Amino acid sequence: MEQRRWTLNDFDIGKPLGKGKFGQVYLVREKSSNHIVALKVLFKSQLQHSEVVHQLRREVEIQSHLRHPNILRLYGYFYDQKRVYLILEYALKGELYKELQKCKYFSERRAATYLASLARALIYCHGKHVIHRDIKPENILIGAQGELKIADFGWSVHAFNRRRTMCGTLDYLPPEMVENVEHDASVDIWSLGVMCYEFLYGVPPFDAKEHSETYRKIVRVDLKFPPKPIVSSTAKDLIRQMLVKDSSQRLPLHKLLEHPWIVQNAEPSGVYRG
Ligand code: ATP
Ligand code: MG
Repeated sequence: MEQRRWTLNDFDIGKPLGKGKFGQVYLVREKSSNHIVALKVLFKSQLQHSEVVHQLRREVEIQSHLRHPNILRLYGYFYDQKRVYLILEYALKGELYKELQKCKYFSERRAATYLASLARALIYCHGKHVIHRDIKPENILIGAQGELKIADFGWSVHAFNRRRTMCGTLDYLPPEMVENVEHDASVDIWSLGVMCYEFLYGVPPFDAKEHSETYRKIVRVDLKFPPKPIVSSTAKDLIRQMLVKDSSQRLPLHKLLEHPWIVQNAEPSGVYRG
């Protein structure tokens, strides 16, 4: 998929892959190369709010410059009178959050393999001064080999120019983001810690019926490990080192890769095959 001007005529449209807030995603084939990709179609009429347009711009600008096996490629975009189209790498195995729902929770091998691959992707992003800021199972897809693909860079920012308006779920946000003070790349370490917990227990750690209760739990780092499912103490140790209120004290991602739980459990190939 080389750099060029695209139009809808360049693609054969296949089955719908899913529906998002602002449009639909289709499996498509680029006619000249036979390349299979996903085409995200957004209606301009639904993109009226400036915050949404900003988000889309950020997503395109940031994601199109990232090249990593665990980050969903964005090959390009085009538009017509009514719609904006994003040409995305196709993630054959769909959404991580559905997989988690199906299994309820993951084995330690699987969780550690996933965590290591996400840490490597985030190390790459942070090296380019990109903070994702919205790491959660809903924003992660699974490729043909079972490898994870971080998608959805709508909330991501270049460090140094951080916006702070938030909406949606609080569950994955670190204290400094819910409290609205300055934050940096270590916000992604927190979210990764929340996800590690969710991989192993099936629910995020600060889950509560009320928004306000989740808020309170995050700010206090009210972290509890239920007796079931049984999780190793090395896994809990890693989670505790990531979910630290003082963002400067969170386990750096390169150290995460050397943590005994990762070393002992993560698949060396970086891919979980079941
Ligand atoms: P939001 O609008 O909040 O981002 P969303 O992430 O669910 O919501 P989309 O990113 O538009 O919305 O994607 C809709 C659905 O299409 C996804 O949930 C997923 O199931 C599917 N999908 C999206 N992109 C791909 C892709 N590259 N490969 C395979 N399936 C995809
Ligand atoms: Mg999305």
